[in-house]
Amino acid sequence: MNLKYPLGAGVAIWGRYTGTFLVSWPAQPRLITMSGKYIVRTFGCQMNEHDSERLAGLLEADGLEPTTDVEQADVVVLNTCCIRENADNKLYGTLGHLKSLKEARPGMEIMVAGCLSQKDRGTIAERAPYVDVILGTHNVHRAVDLLHQRRETGKPVLEILEETVAEDHELFPSALPVVRQAGYAGWVTIQMGCDNSCAFCIVPAVRGPEISRPFGDILAEVHRAAADGVTEVTLLGQNVNSFGRDLTLRLRSQGMSAEEPEARMSAEFMVGENWDQESGSKVRPLFADLLRAVGAVPGIRRVRYTSPHPKDLRPETIEAMAQVDTVCEHLHLPLQSGSNSILAAMHRGYTAERYMERLALARAGIPDLAVTTDIILGFPGETEADALATFELAAEARFDGAFTFLYSPRPGTEAAELTEKFVDHAVVVERMERLRAIIERSSFLGNESRVGRTEEVLVFGPSKRDPERVSGRTRQNRLVHFTPPAPMRPGTYVSVEVSSATNTCLMGEFVEILDLPTHRTRLEVSAG
Ligand code: SF4
Repeated sequence: MNLKYPLGAGVAIWGRYTGTFLVSWPAQPRLITMSGKYIVRTFGCQMNEHDSERLAGLLEADGLEPTTDVEQADVVVLNTCCIRENADNKLYGTLGHLKSLKEARPGMEIMVAGCLSQKDRGTIAERAPYVDVILGTHNVHRAVDLLHQRRETGKPVLEILEETVAEDHELFPSALPVVRQAGYAGWVTIQMGCDNSCAFCIVPAVRGPEISRPFGDILAEVHRAAADGVTEVTLLGQNVNSFGRDLTLRLRSQGMSAEEPEARMSAEFMVGENWDQESGSKVRPLFADLLRAVGAVPGIRRVRYTSPHPKDLRPETIEAMAQVDTVCEHLHLPLQSGSNSILAAMHRGYTAERYMERLALARAGIPDLAVTTDIILGFPGETEADALATFELAAEARFDGAFTFLYSPRPGTEAAELTEKFVDHAVVVERMERLRAIIERSSFLGNESRVGRTEEVLVFGPSKRDPERVSGRTRQNRLVHFTPPAPMRPGTYVSVEVSSATNTCLMGEFVEILDLPTHRTRLEVSAG
């Protein structure tokens, strides 16, 4: 790996934590690897879960074995999130417990990674000086190097980079070794950071500006995943449908010529083979091209993505979703609010009318489309009329599901400063009850419309409530439970006839097996 950090730049050093080795520290092949057991605990979103798979992959590549028992672990990694409420309380609560474990077993090492360490930096080191390694969101790939540094210097290490180095695509978490939670399904990061500035969101501060991963690099990752038995991929980014804007800009600024074969090959690796198809402008998002290319990889049966931004949902993406069989008929399109004044205060970049137009285009263009969303109630300044506008839009949109959130301030965001406009908690809770009733009704109607149909289901494991049953997801991402005729491995594709529905799931009868999984099953390694 070619590390390109200029000495001292983009690196922060706090207190007694060492920092002098940050630039030159290994990033070279090591003769001594680690042994022992590790556990990774993830707080937060899919992006974090994806990073955790990479952290696990790096630790295993260096010789550690997984354990599910924290008391057995030699290395405990906490991958933190600052998007969820009370994230810091949860982290410090967990660290308090680990501190007593570490007192009993001083050899145990604690690593804290993720958004909260990126945001709070030295605070974690001050409040929990027994933590061995602290790293941020831009240097997941350095986890093992930093652990070695800790061992060799005997001093705790803190390394937070201010930004990702755009030129080095190997720094993308997807380019690192991986231990997938589900061997048949894989997340592939296509982009990091976000160029938007939603007033409630801490992501731009902790993940930095948008950087797209080179097109050819993503495809290579998907081919590798398919060869390992992955059949469902989810393309991951904060604003996936603006993927590639930065790449095409970079290409244009480098003055790449489509005529010279070498330049053309390098351009194709970066932005795909259709990058110069549009006459005139080469600065355009490439998400639709990417959907088509990923959807055509042999072995891939399902392509999903999360999350698109309503303002960037282009007709090309809708067309690609409709035309590429492997792209699932599910669109998660975050609404956040149905009130134009709240959308403006949030800096979302669209109006309620615009959102509904885009939704109508998607539904018209993609047959059998299921739509889910995110909605925040109680954003600072939200009035009863704003809430009513959200209820009306939610009812009209007939969402198949929604993640609903009571607004809570995230320190460091613009909205958190609007304290004089905060809405009374009891008022927001009451509004939420009304919204949930609307969403439950449309989710139920959406699920009920599937009764009598035969659906393709990807099995992910036994049902939580009834071990005799297994659970899986349809292409529309609806949860289905059914009784299999014989034990069934996760990753199996079956067809199921839907017999009944609730607002959260479908029940069905097994019809037939469509495809068997080919991924390897991970076996627990136990001591002795
Ligand atoms: S689009 Fe808005 S909500 Fe989404 S990550 Fe970017 S700033 Fe946050």
